[in-house]
Amino acid sequence: RTQSAATAETLIALRDVAVEYGVGAGRHRVLSGIELEVARGSFVSIIGPSGCGKSTLLRVLAGLVAPSAGAVAIAGLSPADAVKRRLIGLVFQDANLLPWKSALDNAAFLLEVSDRRLKRAETRARALEILKLVGLERAAGRRPSQLSGGMRQRVSIARALALDPEILLMDEPFGALDAITREEMSYFLLDLWQRTRKTVVFVTHSIDEAVFLSSRVHVMGVGPARILDTIDVPLAYPRTEACFEDPAFARTEARLRALLLEGHGKGSEP
Ligand code: ADP
Ligand code: MG
Repeated sequence: RTQSAATAETLIALRDVAVEYGVGAGRHRVLSGIELEVARGSFVSIIGPSGCGKSTLLRVLAGLVAPSAGAVAIAGLSPADAVKRRLIGLVFQDANLLPWKSALDNAAFLLEVSDRRLKRAETRARALEILKLVGLERAAGRRPSQLSGGMRQRVSIARALALDPEILLMDEPFGALDAITREEMSYFLLDLWQRTRKTVVFVTHSIDEAVFLSSRVHVMGVGPARILDTIDVPLAYPRTEACFEDPAFARTEARLRALLLEGHGKGSEP
């Protein structure tokens, strides 16, 4: 653990969090003993095999799922209060845009529904500003069907940023994109992160995506789902193509791969 990570202000803290789904005999534990700390302004990834509970963990942070045990604090608030104070923006794998609305109106959507007092001209001006931030001002008038997959995902990021949240929770946001677009989006997201200073919690099952983007990776395993280990990525920002050639990149990838295999039950299970 580095000095800067130890002294940085903790924005998100989970203590011994458990989540159970279902009722009666169908009740089962999905997360157990989750301990997590995220420093303000950092970019962290959560990685783990499909079905291990990554989305559930993000839903806990977003106030969409209540833990059955443990404590969650976001800037000292409960997730529900953090959402009310607009501290949290959400981005999912599917951009989920309204097909009949333009990119601009989709970006303005949360502004419109969350603040009825805003005049239409104000929400549109704010949405245009955000579209500029994500490099889409020239596509403002286009419908989702007239945008590429990467552009649609940028609109969904713009929509999440429109309320100026402090935290961006991203659930496999590039999972549906082709490899090249995915890599472009990685550079785009890091650049956006550096310009906006948001705190990003990024869920992925891609090892190289986690290493390339984050300063810290939390590895989840199954049976019961928990955080197996936390790895600091020894690569400086800004990250460039040269990172992929850096021996530290390959070393970190190899460590994560070993941890994931272990968490998949191929290693020693107590
Ligand atoms: P991941 O995002 O890592 O793929 P999820 O958090 O989506 O994992 O799911 C974790 C586990 O919880 C899976 O076994 C899934 O089937 C189960 N699960 C997810 N959502 C629900 C739900 N609403 N009700 C019951 N079980 C669920
Ligand atoms: Mg998921």
